[in-house]
Amino acid sequence: MSATQAALFDEPITAPKSKRPVFSIFTDITCGEACWHAKEEICRCSCGGKNHGVLLENGAEQPIRNAKIDGHRYTLAAVGKRRDIAAQAATLNGAQYRSVDRPTFVVDGTTATEEQFQDARAKGDPRAFVNQYHYQWSETDAGAPARLKYATPPQRDKWPELAAFREDNDAALLWQIVDMPAPPAIKMLDKLTGETASAQCPNDRKAEQLARQN
Ligand SMILES: [Zn+2]
Repeated sequence: MSATQAALFDEPITAPKSKRPVFSIFTDITCGEACWHAKEEICRCSCGGKNHGVLLENGAEQPIRNAKIDGHRYTLAAVGKRRDIAAQAATLNGAQYRSVDRPTFVVDGTTATEEQFQDARAKGDPRAFVNQYHYQWSETDAGAPARLKYATPPQRDKWPELAAFREDNDAALLWQIVDMPAPPAIKMLDKLTGETASAQCPNDRKAEQLARQN
């Protein structure tokens, strides 16, 4: 982390903890912006009410935190134990592929032209398929839609959003990118038909797999 980033991460507290009584229903829901700006009296997320309405001061909303990570602008989307917010980061990163290569066509173990592939398909040749490399975003990639960072000890000490994690080494921050990267220009093709695939991002594929199981 550079000095500039450290300064951004350790910016002063913007809002004191709300003194309102909060009734908490503990759930697996990730503690995030909805909780920090919540006005209702019941907290339904994993912080157990500690962060509830923490970014409201006299009813006015405080800005959420910003950070620049590897040159990209992010806002804080959630806090929690790293393993608890990893799925949310994966969903954000699964909204599109990082990149998709041009397809190549294979017939009977040999590289073929698209025309040769289509001919083989038309004849019902089962040895014809599309080969296409594609790459997913990871929470450690520069410019990824979502980044995960462990909370530093000064952050755990000072940030109102981290009130539930003062002593917790697993406390992490989920940062969501402000300007989404452009989706890949090349479309994924169906491996067997060569048509544009119905799944164009990791989340689509996951949904298809779930639908097949049910
Ligand atoms: Zn919460």
